[in-house]
Amino acid sequence: MDLTDIRTIREIEKKFNFGFSKGLGQNFLLDSDVLDKIADAADITDGVLEIGAGFGVLTRKLAETAKKVVSVEIDKSLIPVLQYTLQDFDNVKIIEGDFLKLDAKALIKEEFGGGKISIAANLPYYITTPIITGIIESKLPVKTIVVMVQKEVAERIVAKVGTKDYGAISVLCNFYTKPEIVEIVPAGSFYPAPKVDSAVLRMEVLDKPPVLVESETQFFKVVKSAFLHRRKTLLNCLSSGFGIEKPALSEMLKELGIEPSVRGERLGLSEFAKIADAIGKMH
Ligand code: SAM
Repeated sequence: MDLTDIRTIREIEKKFNFGFSKGLGQNFLLDSDVLDKIADAADITDGVLEIGAGFGVLTRKLAETAKKVVSVEIDKSLIPVLQYTLQDFDNVKIIEGDFLKLDAKALIKEEFGGGKISIAANLPYYITTPIITGIIESKLPVKTIVVMVQKEVAERIVAKVGTKDYGAISVLCNFYTKPEIVEIVPAGSFYPAPKVDSAVLRMEVLDKPPVLVESETQFFKVVKSAFLHRRKTLLNCLSSGFGIEKPALSEMLKELGIEPSVRGERLGLSEFAKIADAIGKMH
């Protein structure tokens, strides 16, 4: 069964009387080269967790290599479709549910046991950011995450310090992972075609963050404050974010060798780490 062939998709659509939901981000991948690239990038050894099976085009690809694939799909009407499209595979389990509402840690433990797994997904765009941040912040036993996301989101995640795309999500992803864009995928590679282009983003989860911080919570509070108002200076952002008087804050930044009038987008991970530790000592 070739789920990258539009005729197969149309047949299934008809057979199951399936209606595509825009609201659930249902744009199914039709490009077999891109499927190969996602599977290669996912670093598959044993287990793979997929988010959003759709008709199962990626699920099938992953199941060719993985020992076990577990895919979470929110749309009830896709369950009978998946039973049909995945009938040749005995190493796939479909879980009907909302990925954002389930306990991913418990699910991974129950389905895959002890080892580290890979996550692969062509993500529904309306919840890309909560899914990515949720996965990396909850420190799941995952070695590699490969996700199809909106091109602009991928560009923000891999953005370098000082560029216009650099922001809190770049810092977060670079703190926990090594992100890279594998491939830009044009809108026409999906059915139905979305309005925007996409990118395959690969994130290798790091064993430990590249900078040491006393408190990760404090570190991310600093990062969020620094990017909350992009036009404000670091001094103003931190003063309102932490409720600290500007003179004391200004002195502290100068002691760290950081210009108080700088904007957050000029700061790298190590500067944010220094600021977070110093603010921690001020309280
Ligand atoms: N993997 C398929 C492919 O590559 O063609 C489908 C990808 S499509 C972009 C996203 C899929 O995620 C849809 O099947 C949609 O129903 C499902 N989905 C949307 N929100 C979800 C959620 N909160 N939890 C799990 N699946 C979700």
